[in-house]
Amino acid sequence: MKEIGNHFQSELEEIKAQGLYRSLYPFQVNNGKHLNLNGKAYLNFSSNNYLDLADDEHLKQGAIQAIQEWGAGGKASRLIHGSTSLHELLESTIAKFKQTEAALLFNSGYHANVGVLSQLAAEGDVYFTDELNHASIIDGLRLSKAKKVIYPHLDLNYLEAQLKQERLKNAKGKLIIVTESVFSMDGDVAPLLDLLSLAEKYDVWIYLDEAHAVGVFGKTGQGLVEACGILKERLQRVIQMGTFGKAFGSFGAFIAGSKNLIEWLINRVRTFIYTTSLPPAVLGATLAALRMMPEEQVRRDRLWHNLRTLEKLLQTRWDKTFKIVSPIVPLRLNDLAKTLRASEFLKSAGFWLTAIRYPTVAPGTERLRLTVMSSHTDEELAQLVSTLEQVL
Ligand code: PMP
Repeated sequence: MKEIGNHFQSELEEIKAQGLYRSLYPFQVNNGKHLNLNGKAYLNFSSNNYLDLADDEHLKQGAIQAIQEWGAGGKASRLIHGSTSLHELLESTIAKFKQTEAALLFNSGYHANVGVLSQLAAEGDVYFTDELNHASIIDGLRLSKAKKVIYPHLDLNYLEAQLKQERLKNAKGKLIIVTESVFSMDGDVAPLLDLLSLAEKYDVWIYLDEAHAVGVFGKTGQGLVEACGILKERLQRVIQMGTFGKAFGSFGAFIAGSKNLIEWLINRVRTFIYTTSLPPAVLGATLAALRMMPEEQVRRDRLWHNLRTLEKLLQTRWDKTFKIVSPIVPLRLNDLAKTLRASEFLKSAGFWLTAIRYPTVAPGTERLRLTVMSSHTDEELAQLVSTLEQVL
């Protein structure tokens, strides 16, 4: 066997030769839309901090106050002594925000998806999962013994045929559709109302990952469920998951649903049971963001204004048919070398946009993932598009 250092060196060389090498950038400034790396300033167009809340004074103060009252660490897992009245307050505030009976915090979206999906369905049950679902969903499904049907991206005809077939074979088993609201690398939006109609027709549940939709969609930022105006009764068959590390500017995640569902999760989900509870600073910041969320209409409106402005600019300068439906705007170059070169060129011009490549997306579908924040100005968007024109 090769010595450890040598072993990994040869694998790293292989990764580099394939153009798939990744490295970390230790920014000296990472504040709102501003980045600075080794003395060079960049305008950030790669953040999930869509409402620019992560550096907001209310969130910082929320974190500071929580630390002063509760200390720095989570101290134990939730079921030992890591649950506090602050966790409970945050969970009841989430439930109120999402208009569900109850909610449960998870340490991250990754923990929520892996933990819940690995337990929710078992042998004899079937998951129907969109082919472009996030890695955390894929990993959760891999850990479950349920059958998995992967459907082509947003292909409801294919999905319906599969639902029909599985329901015929299995009259009583659990069938669960798993989808993101806003797809993290494609920025397109799931046809939730149609999915819900299918779910009702074939008596199926939906596990809905609203990671990129909470804070951005709906009048009060509840997510796609709110934007689609879905009535409470119809949500009985939907398990809603959301994260706080994106539009909320904080960290962590939640599942919102019925009291019975939440109690069951507390008793069954290993990524909830066997990990230290979220620390007070995170809870304090999240609570501050959550309390601000219904009034953040100004930032949400500004974000959607920016998206319309960018769409118009891209339509006039690049592609007449270009459509933007969420803050995630993929600029598909479908070629690894081209995408890497484009990203480097944009960085040299002071715009931070990352190249998305395998294994995050399939080979041949490489893209720049452009994300927009509420704090970008019209001038900044125009400057970006002028620079993009030179590479696209
Ligand atoms: N779901 C989706 C759709 C995501 O894009 C992400 C993160 N990029 C996650 C889950 C994981 O969330 P977190 O970052 O809180 O672990």
